Amino acid sequence: MENAAYKEVYDRGVQALQSAGVADAGLDARLLLEFVCHTDRNTLYAHADMPVSDYARELYEQLIRRRAQRIPLQHLLGTQEFMGLSFVVNEHVLIPRQDTECLVEEAMICTMDGDRVLDLCTGSGCILLSIMCYKNGIEGVGTDISNEALQVARLNAERLEKPALFVNCDLFGQLPEEPFDIIVSNPPYIRSDVIETLAPEVKDHEPRGALDGGSDGLVFYKRILKDAPRYIRRGGTVLLEIGYDQGEAVSSMMKEAGFDNVETVKDLAGNDRVVKGIWVK
Ligand code: GLN
Repeated sequence: MENAAYKEVYDRGVQALQSAGVADAGLDARLLLEFVCHTDRNTLYAHADMPVSDYARELYEQLIRRRAQRIPLQHLLGTQEFMGLSFVVNEHVLIPRQDTECLVEEAMICTMDGDRVLDLCTGSGCILLSIMCYKNGIEGVGTDISNEALQVARLNAERLEKPALFVNCDLFGQLPEEPFDIIVSNPPYIRSDVIETLAPEVKDHEPRGALDGGSDGLVFYKRILKDAPRYIRRGGTVLLEIGYDQGEAVSSMMKEAGFDNVETVKDLAGNDRVVKGIWVK
């Protein structure tokens, strides 16, 4: 077969993804084609008739087939942008979400250069490493129960040249009780019975352990808030990402745990997204 034209290859990709029920078929088809051909978004409009080599086309078709099986786009591309930085991802970590940028932005308001920052359930390390990239001299520690996830976090730290310490433990585990200025976490918070209703990309391809927050979705908040007082310095802030309907529950839990100035922050979509509180005891 002769070299096909860029736009034709793209159109076939869109069709295949549409029939597989992929939500953003056009976008994903374009991003995969750009990935394979090392092009950018202008190519589709400016050079629609550009020839695509047989090799690139075959590779593209292979990726389209995998995307049609509802493998997340980011697993095919290998990275996800978050806070303007590129993070390596795979099936062992939650793919960084735009919602979580709200948590990072809030955390950055409370963080001073040189602070000690702890990120629980760090996954790809996206939260901790973003803070370390945008503040100076942060002493960053991230923990995760999954060793495979920490391998990804360490790779991301290396790529971003940030000296974060990643520890394999369950939340605080046996971390020495040296106080942190800031504790952040985006823990698993989806109710177990809701997981089966999620898109196949999420329920079949993202780590269950990064999603499942137990029967009420609140298991991790309870555990974090029980131990956080031993790890936060006086005047330090704890910031937790939450689901849109967990604001009230998590704020009351934080108050009960003894935190002051407890506040819920909304994300850009207007949903409750972060609960934060200060430890003044
Ligand atoms: N902290 C990571 C993130 O926000 C992983 C969160 C998780 O696994 N629940 O992307």
